[in-house]
Amino acid sequence: MDKKIGLFWLRDDFRISRNNGLVEASRNHDQVVAFFLYKKLTYKYKEAQKWWLSKSLSNFKQKLSGLNISLQIIETESFKLFFDELLKKQNFSIYWNKVYEPDYLKFDNYLSKNLERKSIKFKIFKGNALNEIDEVKKADGTPFRVFTPFWRYAEKYYFEKIPQKLKAVQKCKNKISFFKNSIDEKKILPKRNWFKKFEKIWIPSEESASKQLQDFIRTKLENYSDGRNFPNITGTSKLSPFIKFGQIHVETIWDECAKQKIKGIGKSKYLAEIGWREFNHSLINYFPHMLKSNYSKKFDKFPWEKNSKFLSAWKKGLTGYPIVDAGMRELYTSGWMHNRVRMIVGSFLVKHLLIDWKEGEKHFKNCLLDYSAANNVAGWQWVAGCGADAAPYFRIFNPILQGEKFDKDGQYVRKWVPELKNLPNKFIHKPWEASLEKFKLGKDYPFPIVRHEDARAKALNAFKKI
Ligand SMILES: Cc1cc2nc3c(=O)[nH]c(=O)nc-3n(C[C@H](O)[C@H](O)[C@H](O)COP(=O)(O)OP(=O)(O)OC[C@H]3O[C@@H](n4cnc5c(N)ncnc54)[C@H](O)[C@@H]3O)c2cc1C
Repeated sequence: MDKKIGLFWLRDDFRISRNNGLVEASRNHDQVVAFFLYKKLTYKYKEAQKWWLSKSLSNFKQKLSGLNISLQIIETESFKLFFDELLKKQNFSIYWNKVYEPDYLKFDNYLSKNLERKSIKFKIFKGNALNEIDEVKKADGTPFRVFTPFWRYAEKYYFEKIPQKLKAVQKCKNKISFFKNSIDEKKILPKRNWFKKFEKIWIPSEESASKQLQDFIRTKLENYSDGRNFPNITGTSKLSPFIKFGQIHVETIWDECAKQKIKGIGKSKYLAEIGWREFNHSLINYFPHMLKSNYSKKFDKFPWEKNSKFLSAWKKGLTGYPIVDAGMRELYTSGWMHNRVRMIVGSFLVKHLLIDWKEGEKHFKNCLLDYSAANNVAGWQWVAGCGADAAPYFRIFNPILQGEKFDKDGQYVRKWVPELKNLPNKFIHKPWEASLEKFKLGKDYPFPIVRHEDARAKALNAFKKI
């Protein structure tokens, strides 16, 4: 046993199971302290996630306490400032798991060098991914830019790995504190009370993630290939915020799915979505410029329009297109939006309104509980046509047809846009065609802010310019 204190730097890994950094700390030390570094600035535009983070900290703190491990939250302006101070001490060893974002990996390098220089023992472990970023490359050593060959390679690579023997976190001898200035997790909660609604929908804990996975496997996995397309039903796992915060490891998802003997393509389709997540993480690490600008440089000249009235109508779910408005209201109310609808509202913003995808990305970041830098920028650039392996720009989703195809009876629209709930099915995705006594367009629900055909023609014209 190492006589020093074992520190576990908690980042995106709010779980006991398959948490290699925590396991190692608990096995090497009698006394372990977990700590979370809260950078206020990082969360400034992630209002919804402040709620998830605060709740996750609270739930995990309780869980760790049962293992005699305390969890301390420290507010800091920068990781560097914090560690420069910490490294003045010598009475600890430190462990953490990777987060696959360029800034995190760069900081891991910086910190490792400084820990080595001070002869402080440390160990970094694989994070929440199936493969390490550099394990999946083309034969010539360059990164994949197209999903299908990426996943073919990544899936095989993971499948052929020797499974790691799982070790449990050990109960520590006694619980101690290490840092002087820790804060309460409640301090992280958003100022506005809008998160109260989330509390009725989500429980940000490891148990909840595990239960959700089991329910999904039992009732939805087999039919996932179809079920995932319809926003009026729960056909997907809704695990995204849990995956983002590491309440569940993707290897656990893989293992639990792999065990299932079910017919059809549901299972492989579902695992391929986990694959898209891996692909997006690979992309942002090999092409970090895409975190701030277009992956495809030719889009730097795209003639985006600035229109604050349109942008505001989109954010509020008042565009006059029911499926778009339903999605935007689902997002605001529940902190989550169905993938099909993310594509529809995204396409509407960049193609019908010609507003830069970065505006949409920013809004999603603020409202999504599952916001992840990799999935959000890649998702937006996929929709806008400027990403790797993206939907071509000229493929413009028709919000009326999308609604009629994927929300045929308008159940989804009726749930989120209650002012339309009495419209007959045939008008639910085009309320401007209804002439009903009790429904007045412009009063009960807005006129469409743009006409689909005009917007489509304008978007195609704009595309010609690049
Ligand atoms: C414009 C846009 C923005 C998006 N922003 C995010 C984001 O910030 N965070 C996020 O996790 N996902 C994002 N996605 C991807 C996708 O919409 C969500 O992962 C999915 O809707 C989450 O629901 P689920 O857990 O029920 O997914 P399931 O269908 O059950 O899939 C299981 C898991 O696979 C991963 N996954 C599923 N679909 C995708 C996808 N298309 N790309 C990458 N990974 C995927 C997620 O981790 C998901 O939890 C975005 C998609 C678009 C089009």
